[in-house]
Amino acid sequence: MKNKEILYLVIPCYNEQEVLHETTSRLTEKLNNMINQEQISPDSKILYVNDGSKDNTWKIIEELNASNPLIQGLNLARNRGHQNALLAGLMTAKEHADMVISMDADLQDDINVVDEFVKKYYEGNDIVYGVRSARKKDTFFKKFTAQGFYKLMLMMGVDLVYNHADYRLMSKRSLENLESFKEVNLFLRGIVPQIGYQSTIVEYERNERFAGESKYPLKKMLAFATDGITSFSIKPIRMITTIGILIFLASICMALWSIIQHFRGVTTAGWTSLIVSIWAIGGLQILAVGIVGEYVGKVYLESKHRPRYIIEKYLK
Ligand code: UDP
Ligand code: MG
Repeated sequence: MKNKEILYLVIPCYNEQEVLHETTSRLTEKLNNMINQEQISPDSKILYVNDGSKDNTWKIIEELNASNPLIQGLNLARNRGHQNALLAGLMTAKEHADMVISMDADLQDDINVVDEFVKKYYEGNDIVYGVRSARKKDTFFKKFTAQGFYKLMLMMGVDLVYNHADYRLMSKRSLENLESFKEVNLFLRGIVPQIGYQSTIVEYERNERFAGESKYPLKKMLAFATDGITSFSIKPIRMITTIGILIFLASICMALWSIIQHFRGVTTAGWTSLIVSIWAIGGLQILAVGIVGEYVGKVYLESKHRPRYIIEKYLK
């Protein structure tokens, strides 16, 4: 059974008419090589997911599907964003494939490491993460914001693989388990490590886009980061509680200090009571918001209906 298993490449596409032909020829060559070397089954495919593109992307996918036996297409009813398009592709591919690799349409992620992904899969890994070894070719701005993003996420307690985007291999059973994560706000990079199973990383160098432009402007990146943090962590709520407690403690110190000042007779009448109430009420209010937040956070986490465990093996 080992070797010659079916590999699917899942590629979300949003307005990618400039890159599709080139991407297809590079990937077709890659897959055919791997099929000829008997690394993967001849039933392996490339699955393009059209994420409601406004240009000719879907028309090109239809043409490619008609002319190239390796190409399949999935058309979403409208634009749902990269993560949702990717999930649609993964869930479709898992019905036919033994392993699935997700990558971007612009092939910025080096496709030469696909062999290595597959090798690691045959060695028994269910998930193989592609990790960028260096960011020599990124602009300073992209590098700075992207690395800041990982640091912030780790600080917020989100379990992430550092410098890993969505270039990864997943086995059929890990995809089946991914399906049991029911949340609507999808942040795959955070969810996949939660599945567990044996996993490993493969390093690669990330290239520039060979055509077309990035569909991830700063605004989308910020929204993505906010989504990532608020989907996995209630630390921001905890911070509010902490601030509340600190201010309330400060108010007690202020109270003592202003009472001393009062008896030393260096204050104007009314100042003491005023200043102490401002601090105490402020602190108590923030603390109260934090406590309410704790419950909101619990409700939020419950409402995701995430699986409580995933079984790796059952010996019988
Ligand atoms: N993408 C998508 N839907 C969107 C935005 C992007 O499917 O709403 C796809 C896009 O076609 C590409 C991948 O997501 O295959 C990554 O986008 P891009 O290369 O623009 O991001 P960057 O590499 O600049 O971060
Ligand atoms: Mg890109």
